[in-house]
Amino acid sequence: LYHAKRSGRGRVVVYTREMEEAAKRVTRIEQALRRAVSAGEVEPHFQPIVDLNSRRTIGFETLARWTDRDLGVVPPSVFIPIAEERGIIGPLSQLVLRKATEAARSWPKDLFLSFNLSPSQLVDQNTGLHILAILERTGFDPRRLEIEITETGLMNDPASAEKIVEDLRRVGIRVSLDDFGTGQSSLGRLREFHFDKLKIDRAFVSSILDDRPSEHIIRAILAMCEGLGMDVVAEGIEDEAQADRLVQFGCAGGQGYLFGKPADADATLGYLRDSYRGALHAKAI
Ligand code: C2E
Ligand code: CA
Ligand code: CA
Repeated sequence: LYHAKRSGRGRVVVYTREMEEAAKRVTRIEQALRRAVSAGEVEPHFQPIVDLNSRRTIGFETLARWTDRDLGVVPPSVFIPIAEERGIIGPLSQLVLRKATEAARSWPKDLFLSFNLSPSQLVDQNTGLHILAILERTGFDPRRLEIEITETGLMNDPASAEKIVEDLRRVGIRVSLDDFGTGQSSLGRLREFHFDKLKIDRAFVSSILDDRPSEHIIRAILAMCEGLGMDVVAEGIEDEAQADRLVQFGCAGGQGYLFGKPADADATLGYLRDSYRGALHAKAI
């Protein structure tokens, strides 16, 4: 069941067959991903974010999608952590942002685009420069871009993260705090760091109807956002009853399968054409 190998530093390491198989699989995904990124094969998909009262779409979150010839569809929950760990997240992220801003350029001008940044990108001082260079090249207005970061992303090196965020903010990019309420939440962070928006994690939304603590936590988060002047979006809304309850609590923004699943650039443009048909904005697309 076990076998031993000498590591690079000469230490003897004991592996199980399962560990060995898992390591091989990660390496296979890493190699396929490197190839896909150089070939430009990772695609942005877009999920609508709506105003919960009017149900109008106010923006879209960019979510990376990758289908490999041999491996098939690999979900971001698998390839993003591997990209981070193996140093591919920078080029991957630049590819997806370039394609996303090229697609979003032809959307109505009042819609924003949000984009996820990984923790390791917030310790790399080139991140800001790369983002600005892409916006310059694609001609996308930085005031329409939001970056989503998690608290984990701020913990590694808060000073470095702050500097990157400040550089982006200077040109009008907004910053939102993703997955709020999970992981290493610290309310202290909200004092030190100004966020334009907070995204309430899906875990609270999915249990809002059957669990009193979730309800109270959501209400407390909404009150806090109001006091701190932050916009708020509830994530993972899947049914009308959840949406109704959130509206009742005064939550302004929502995202989830109820309003739309992530879709590719063409489908998103089609969706916008349909929902804006006959509306004042029709000229814009
Ligand atoms: P996230 O940033 O929290 O993104 C939201 C995730 O929830 C997405 O999963 C989305 O498809 C899913 N989702 C949206 N609405 C619903 C719903 O109503 N019900 C349920 N069950 N799920 C919903 P996805 O696309 O699989 O992405 C997973 C994570 O991978 C993202 O979580 C984000 O952390 C990361 N990710 C995706 N694309 C990128 C990227 O381009 N860059 C980076 N750094 N991370 C990315
Ligand atoms: Ca996100
Ligand atoms: Ca999230």
